[in-house]
Parts: sequence; structure tokens; C-alpha cells
Amino acid sequence: MSLTLSVDGDRWRRHLLATVTAHPGIVPVAKGNGYGLGLGRLARRAQWLADHAAETGAAVDTIAVGTYDEIGEAATRYSGDLLVLTPWRPFGAALDLDERTAARVVHTVSRPQDLAALRERDPRARFVLEQLTSMRRHGMTRRELATAAEELGRARSGLRGVAMHLPLNTTSHLGEVTRLINEVVASGLPTTTVFVSHLTASELARLATSYPDFTVRPRVGTDLWLGDRGALTVGATVLDVHQVERGDTFGYRGRSVPKSGHIVVVSGGTAHGIGLEAPTGDQSLKARAATLARGGMDAVGFVRSPFSIDGKQRLFAEPPHMQASMLFVPSGARVPRVGEDIDVRVRFTATDFDRVVVS
Ligand SMILES: *Cc1c(COP(=O)(O)O)cnc(C)c1O
Repeated sequence: MSLTLSVDGDRWRRHLLATVTAHPGIVPVAKGNGYGLGLGRLARRAQWLADHAAETGAAVDTIAVGTYDEIGEAATRYSGDLLVLTPWRPFGAALDLDERTAARVVHTVSRPQDLAALRERDPRARFVLEQLTSMRRHGMTRRELATAAEELGRARSGLRGVAMHLPLNTTSHLGEVTRLINEVVASGLPTTTVFVSHLTASELARLATSYPDFTVRPRVGTDLWLGDRGALTVGATVLDVHQVERGDTFGYRGRSVPKSGHIVVVSGGTAHGIGLEAPTGDQSLKARAATLARGGMDAVGFVRSPFSIDGKQRLFAEPPHMQASMLFVPSGARVPRVGEDIDVRVRFTATDFDRVVVS
């Protein structure tokens, strides 16, 4: 009766071990909804990976969480350092650190004024300095990095490295990363550790050759936890089936069925993150034409759903409800039985499963 993520445990764990073996300095990223698997589960699994260090050669001494608010959930399940990806600011959750975990936190500092403010509040704070990349999300420019280097001087400080967050899907990051590492060298910062995201194995290998005195540590989420999609299956339970004739009404809006078939009610709705991209109730001709043009709607005005039966993607009879969805299956097609699980295509990072079952 659920939207369930089933994980082939052996296969998944094999993939995790292989991934950390291939990336010895890896920093597993456990944030948000835990990539669909749950933040707590990922933190526990990261501890398991750390416990297998002798086998993999990867210490897994640090994991990354997304926000200060996520520290608590990760800290009780994983015993190493917790790098917070959201930059430190002199306000909000960053200032509410639990004393028991504060010493394990590694902050991300992305503005020179925050470096001074953080060190003033906590002289023992450990941190990475974030460098601005072509993403332009957070980070210091070359000049700001030099200012930070001046402030830190040669004194021993909590500096743990420099962090850079790179865009996805660019042809190669090497040009940009090379420029950025050269800026780190030029800044005189007393560190040779660089934390990066979204570099391929061959890009990492090339960097190791170009900068033998630098340690490049990849932060990896998707390719670690979700890297072997074949180990993951998503199923939605069929909760009800109603035979309908053309003209019968159904649903919240009392719409009438355009042709005979079945209404199939399945687990999974907006609360799970299902079908948020579906058009609203706007059924104007123009809106329908636009949706039709995008290939999302059939001739009678039903919208494509992420659910499929026997490999055929089915249409929403109406927009998804909070925890269930109504699908339309035209006559002629096989009608699933109540209790059967059907396939759903989801974005793992935006889906809240009722259950995650790891075999
Ligand atoms: C989310 C995140 C990552 C991990 O990204 P994936 O694509 O899931 O591997 C790495 N670095 C930063 C700063 C992030 O926010």
C-alpha cells in the first residue's frame, strides 16, 4: 500500500565499496532527502564504509551534509568529521551548533568577512574556504582568497582545504579546475587539499598527475548512492480499480470519462513528490495545446504520468492527489489487480518514499 524503494542490498553495497575504492579521498555527500534513501541511512552506511577502510583503502574520515540543520541526524550515526556544504554565516542555524558535535564540524567559509567572524566566535573552528566557480553560487574570488590568505598568515589555523563546486555536464572541468588551483597556489594559502565536485575519474587522475603535491578530494553523492540504478527499483501499489464507461464522472472535479476503460488508483502523490510537473487544472484550449505540443497530454486531455504498467507509461486521469494518484487505462489494455506493484519513474532527490527496503 506504499510507494516503495527496493534496494538490491548485495549489489548496492558492492557498488558503494567499488566507488570508494576508486576514489580514496572520497567525501560521501549525505544531504536533503538522502537521495531518496534517507539521510540517516546514508550516514550509517558511510560509517559502514569507514569500517571497511582496510578493504577499500579509503578512510572515509569525513562526510558532507548539506545544512547545519542536518548535522544532528548524521552525527549520531557516523562518527567522523561533518563537512557542512552550506556556507557559514554569522546568523541562523550555523550559530546553534550542539556542543557535543561542534568539534567534529568542518565549516565552509565563502566570504572574507565570515572568516574573521567565525574565528572570532570559535578560535578552534575548522573550515574550508570556498572558491567561486563558473557556477557563481557561493565562493571567494581570487582577490578575496588572497585577502583570506593574508588574514590567516602562516599561523596554524583551522584551515582544512579549499572547496570548489563545479557545474554538471560541461565538456571538461580541467581548464577551470587548473585555473582555480593555480589561484590557490598564488594566494599563498597554507593548504594543499582541494575538495571538488563533479569531476570524472579521468579528470581526477589528470589532476593528480599535474599537481602531485596536492590532494584532491571528490565530494560524491549521486554517483555513489545512486550510481548503480539497476540495484534500485521503485514500485507503487495498486489500491483500487474501477471500470468506467464513456461519460461516467470521477475525481475531485467531477470530470467525465472520455472513453471506456478503467480508473486505476495507485499509491504515490504530491506528498511523495510525484508528478509535481503536471499541469494545473487549467484546461483552456491554449494550455492544452501547449501541453500537447510538449507531448505530455493525449488527445482527450489526460496528462502523462510517471507510472507505467507492463512497460507502458500511463496517463493521469487527474492531477495527483496528496498520497494517491488516479490513472486512466483505456479498454483493451491489461488491468492490473489490486495489490500488484507497478513501476514509477521518480527523481530520487525529490521523492519521499513511504518505505525503503534494503535486502
Ligand atoms: C550536492 C553537492 C555535491 C554532490 O553532488 P552530486 O551531484 O549528488 O554528486 C557536491 N558538492 C556540493 C557543494 C553539493 O552541494
